[in-house]
Amino acid sequence: VEGIPDAGTFEDIPRIRTVAGDSVGPRLKDKVAIITGANSPLGIGRASAHQFAHNGAKAVYVCDYDETYLATHKREIESLYPGVDVHTRQFDAGDADAVKAVVDDAIARYGRLDVMFANAGIIGTPKVFTDIDSDGFMNTLRTNTLGVFLAVKYAAPAMKITSEAKPFPSGSIICTASVAGLRSNAGPTDYSASKAAVVNIAQTTSYQLSGTGVRVNAICPGVIETGMTKVMYDAARARGTQQKIGQLNPLQRGAVPDEVARVALFLGSDESSYMNGQAVTVCGGLSAGHPFVP
Ligand code: NAD
Repeated sequence: VEGIPDAGTFEDIPRIRTVAGDSVGPRLKDKVAIITGANSPLGIGRASAHQFAHNGAKAVYVCDYDETYLATHKREIESLYPGVDVHTRQFDAGDADAVKAVVDDAIARYGRLDVMFANAGIIGTPKVFTDIDSDGFMNTLRTNTLGVFLAVKYAAPAMKITSEAKPFPSGSIICTASVAGLRSNAGPTDYSASKAAVVNIAQTTSYQLSGTGVRVNAICPGVIETGMTKVMYDAARARGTQQKIGQLNPLQRGAVPDEVARVALFLGSDESSYMNGQAVTVCGGLSAGHPFVP
């Protein structure tokens, strides 16, 4: 642009991407994405599959160990957003071979993998920590932590970035952690520990992927009304106390899954091209550390 000196260092990066065309159009145009934990009709994974397809993804893999609704999600998403291929996979996020097989399939069919959303999770053991046994603890870690680790392990090498394309587009891995993984909370200890490890996996692997163009970030939701929290919401509704769930939140409410899915869309897209190794909270301000007013 006349009159504006070029810094001359990052010559590959368009200075104003709307002008250069990089950000124009659907944010996941032609991209291939894998989402784990996508079966739950009320879940963050399903909402994200809709957002990804709506935003131009070429293919979305919806994966879950529970396959009850996967075929329904495929029909629904393909009819709502023509042009997207939805692939369903019944798999256990903690099974290395199964995770690798989905990544390999994406590469074999499309020659690329752009977004891995490692989102599968379980609530953990709702007991005081002295009552959590070793099997229960390890079971929670298997899905929530090992599942995310395996997703990063197999997705990152598959996200081959051509030198011409650097630094755009870059592969993006999104790991679902939780605000419970960031600080003390009233939830299950195994769950919180499993999610704290997820934040660290995003931080550590993003560093180890230096120079590849692949980014890894964690999303830390607050209280979202999904399959996971349905029991809590249903019980509160039965007692007429559902308003209380949001009362500690500055927004005075919990969230719907789409409010997390939109952040996953942002992190998966090139819009977030300089965000890496971060724990991004989506909690309505819950984690901001508000002053205690007696
Ligand atoms: P959800 O129960 O609606 O969805 C979770 C999905 O993960 C389910 O479809 C379940 O079948 C699947 N899953 C569980 N174990 C699996 C495994 N081993 N392999 C494959 N799939 C598996 O709940 P959600 O709230 O949408 O959960 C999505 C993610 O968000 C989880 O990682 C959860 O810990 C996280 N999270 C949720 C909240 C919340 O308030 N709902 C808050 C913070 C973080």
